[in-house]
Amino acid sequence: MRDCLFCKIVKKEIKADIVYEDDEIIGFNDINPQAPVHILVVPKKHIEDLTKIEKDDVRVMGRIMEVIKDIAKEKHLESGFRVVVNTKESAGQSVFHLHFHILSQRRFHWPPG
Ligand code: AMP
Ligand code: ZN
Repeated sequence: MRDCLFCKIVKKEIKADIVYEDDEIIGFNDINPQAPVHILVVPKKHIEDLTKIEKDDVRVMGRIMEVIKDIAKEKHLESGFRVVVNTKESAGQSVFHLHFHILSQRRFHWPPG
C-alpha cells in the first residue's frame, strides 16, 4: 500500500518511536498521545480495518493480543489499560491500516466518548 502511513512506518520510510517489533507485528508510540502511555500495535500486513480480516489473519490477531499483554507487562501497566480499535471513520478511525491503541496511566470513563 504505497500511500499508507503505517505501511511506510513498517518499511521504515517514516520514522516512529518503536517499542516492539517482530516479523509480523510492530508497536510504536502514538505521535499525538491521548494518555501518558499511548502505544499503537499494528500488523505489518496491510489490513484496512477489522472488517477486512481474513481467515489467514486470525493467528496474527491472536499474537497481537499476546504482544499487548507483553507490552503491558514491560511498561508496568498492571493498574489498568484500555485497548481501542476504531473501525471506520464514524468511530474515529483516521489511519486505514488496522491498529490497536493501548492507553494507560490515566482515568478512563465509561461509556467512552
Ligand atoms: P485512529 O484515529 O484510530 O485511526 O488512530 C490513528 C492514530 O495514529 C492517531 O492516534 C494518531 O495520533 C496516530 N498517528 C498518526 N500519524 C502517526 C505517526 N506518524 N506516528 C505515530 N502515530 C501516528
Ligand atoms: Zn498499510
